[in-house]
Amino acid sequence: MAKTVVIAEHGGPEVLKLEDRPLGAPGPGEVLIRHEVCGLNFIDIYQRTGLYPMDLPAALGMEAAGVIEAVGEGVTHLKPGDRAAYAAAPPGAYAEARVMAAAQVCPLPDGISFEDGAAVMLKGLTTHYLFRRTTPIAKGDTVLFHAAAGGVGLIACQWAASEGITLIGTAGTDEKCQLALDHGATHCINYRTEDFAARVRDLTDGEGVDVVMDAVGADTFEGSLDSLKPLGMMISFGNASGPVPPFSIGVLGQKGSLKITRPTLFTHIAEPETCQQMARGLFEKLTSGAIKMRVDQRFTLDDVGEAHRALEARKTTGSTVLIP
Ligand code: NDP
Repeated sequence: MAKTVVIAEHGGPEVLKLEDRPLGAPGPGEVLIRHEVCGLNFIDIYQRTGLYPMDLPAALGMEAAGVIEAVGEGVTHLKPGDRAAYAAAPPGAYAEARVMAAAQVCPLPDGISFEDGAAVMLKGLTTHYLFRRTTPIAKGDTVLFHAAAGGVGLIACQWAASEGITLIGTAGTDEKCQLALDHGATHCINYRTEDFAARVRDLTDGEGVDVVMDAVGADTFEGSLDSLKPLGMMISFGNASGPVPPFSIGVLGQKGSLKITRPTLFTHIAEPETCQQMARGLFEKLTSGAIKMRVDQRFTLDDVGEAHRALEARKTTGSTVLIP
């Protein structure tokens, strides 16, 4: 048996319930992993509220790190006793242990702690595909990144700095802006007190940025389009403030032949070898020191509701983890 966080209905943090679930043995292509640390992500909130519908009852959580206890037939990249970490669907990572498909479970290098491994997989692989696999971004290019002091945000600030990319961040308080600057953002705009699109124009001599990475969604969408150069790329990858409302595609023409894409991590890591390769690239960023994880909130699995409340209320910075 393993204590697992389950929801029987969509709703507020009160629908999160801890229950004992049978574990079973791994079948072909599966592993049994015992979690040391589980990651918390905004997608967990979308799933809990029903913004991203799922069949119920359902376990939650998409990222964790721990030790492999058993492997099923055909699993060759992991063995019992190995340290490992993953970002993977379907959810079920808020648990003491689970049996799951091995394809997206990656060997975790000895130099990376379980806590960093659990915090970095989903957010770091997302940063990887945003900067490397979505649109060409070269040294010297300028990116606008919203919620730059959040989990994905602080990783993105460091990723950009390590590759000579200018990152203009936004964040909801002056303290959060300072944190983004301390992690490598070139500028950071408090978008609760300033018109960020106008400030981006000032900071770029009227030109605008090459790429916007926007996971705030409803509140920032229009300003994000107004921050782009002609032919610029809008990457809309989340909805922390609510989903982007429907818009007329003609707007992209009027604002300068803009491009737009709406990616998800799970498309990028669907192919197992690509996932493993991306993880190795991400781990290199950590072991070389280019990226240092910042875990600012720790909760026990029993306190998962508190963790959700804090993330939703914009009270967190950097990454948040759950300790089983
Ligand atoms: P964060 O730690 O970044 O938390 C979300 C942040 O969004 C908040 O801290 C807050 O920062 C900002 N925000 C702005 N408006 C609101 C609002 N109305 N309610 C709540 N938060 C708001 O979360 P994660 O690092 O887990 O994820 C960041 C974003 O990236 C999420 O939208 C997530 O869904 C998305 N994502 C998308 C993926 C994909 O592949 N498509 C994969 C991974 C993440 P502030 O106070 O500074 O405004």
